[in-house]
Amino acid sequence: MNANSDFVKRDLAAVWHPCTQMKDHEWLPLIPIRRGQGVWLEDFDGKRYLDAISSWWVNLFGHANPRINTALGRQLQELEHVILAGFTHQAVVELSERLVKITPPGLTRCFYADNGSSAVEVAVKMSFHYWRNCGKTQKTRFITLTNSYHGETLGALAVGNVALYKETYRPLLMDVISVTSPDCYAREAGESWESHTRKMFAHMERALEQHHDQVCAVIIEPLVQCAGNMRMYHPVYLELLREACDRYGVHLIADEIAAGFGRTGTLFACEQAGIAPDFMLLSKGLTGGYLPLSVVVTREEIYQAFYDDYATLRAFLHSHSYTGNALACRAALATLDIFRDDDVIAQNRALAAHMGRSVVQLADHPQVAEVRQHGMILAMEMVKNKHKRQPYPWQERRGLTVYQHALQRGVLLRPVGNVVYFMPPYIIKESEIELMARVAAEGIDLATREA
Ligand code: PMP
Repeated sequence: MNANSDFVKRDLAAVWHPCTQMKDHEWLPLIPIRRGQGVWLEDFDGKRYLDAISSWWVNLFGHANPRINTALGRQLQELEHVILAGFTHQAVVELSERLVKITPPGLTRCFYADNGSSAVEVAVKMSFHYWRNCGKTQKTRFITLTNSYHGETLGALAVGNVALYKETYRPLLMDVISVTSPDCYAREAGESWESHTRKMFAHMERALEQHHDQVCAVIIEPLVQCAGNMRMYHPVYLELLREACDRYGVHLIADEIAAGFGRTGTLFACEQAGIAPDFMLLSKGLTGGYLPLSVVVTREEIYQAFYDDYATLRAFLHSHSYTGNALACRAALATLDIFRDDDVIAQNRALAAHMGRSVVQLADHPQVAEVRQHGMILAMEMVKNKHKRQPYPWQERRGLTVYQHALQRGVLLRPVGNVVYFMPPYIIKESEIELMARVAAEGIDLATREA
């Protein structure tokens, strides 16, 4: 038995994997990874895979990054973790100061959790609780976009909108107000992203006008609905939304869990609209992809609405055991050091342009409806009929064919539905981008051959 299959056998006897129909592994090989180095993962038989999706969009500067490793090694000698209620530590103080500096103006307070979904839960509870502390107890509802995704815990699932994940659990979920997404895939032929996005804002305006008295907040993924098939829209939506939220007295929650830390071309996606949300949610790339950590960064006025004598019971009594974990905060600081010391955003501009060039021919592919890009996220939508934009039935699992082909060729691509995308670590080389693009093109050819 080779080393891979030994691990696979033991795994399948004891592990239940996330987001997986486990029966698939009767025929779909599970891949045990022995080590990672830069953009490369290596299995127990020595086969290498280019991590083109940054291990679920978390890795920014490569696996086993020497700078993050060194910082973590030092932190490990000092303090691995301490309760964050009543106690604090150097890494969480420094990280909070730096996050306040680099996030949009007006965001002054950092509340930590340990994964993206938990940050969504925190923001939802905090917004509701803020209005309650202000005497506005009729505000109990949230506005969300169709095709949005905010995580898997019940609150996060409720404010999300991807049927595949949500439908089964609907009886358990709070009711939300759902507004049609500005998704530019739905624009008229020849229409600009900006024009379509502006037009779609009318739906949001109407919902706010009708419901603002009962609404705590609008929650959105700025610029890219990642889990919702990498659908994209123009920054003008964020500008219009900020203005409308102010006008109607409703919070704006920007879920930058996937979009943040340079993915869309700027450090934060909100920067492209020059806006500051009331709550900015960060996770994934926050620790460079090393350790689970998330943070809700919010405004002073919101913080102050909870600040009172204990007996008023206005405090935000939410907690997680690993809140503000010292190792995770240290990994985040090392990640921010890399952003500060290397000209990451400018270098990404060149990489993003190269990614765009590398798949330019796929725009003419008869089974690719669209190639779209926001910075370091590039997506290609496979369709049954390009002219009518008719999707392949989901049951055909065409994306899975691309996944399997790419693995054979040593690239980890993991399409969402029929959308093949690149979201690589920022240390990827031009030659590696070309490999990724070649393999994606082959995979798309293979997957779109008539069944
Ligand atoms: N929000 C967005 C925009 C996400 O993309 C994700 C994860 N894909 C989450 C929230 C949930 O984060 P986590 O998986 O860490 O709970």
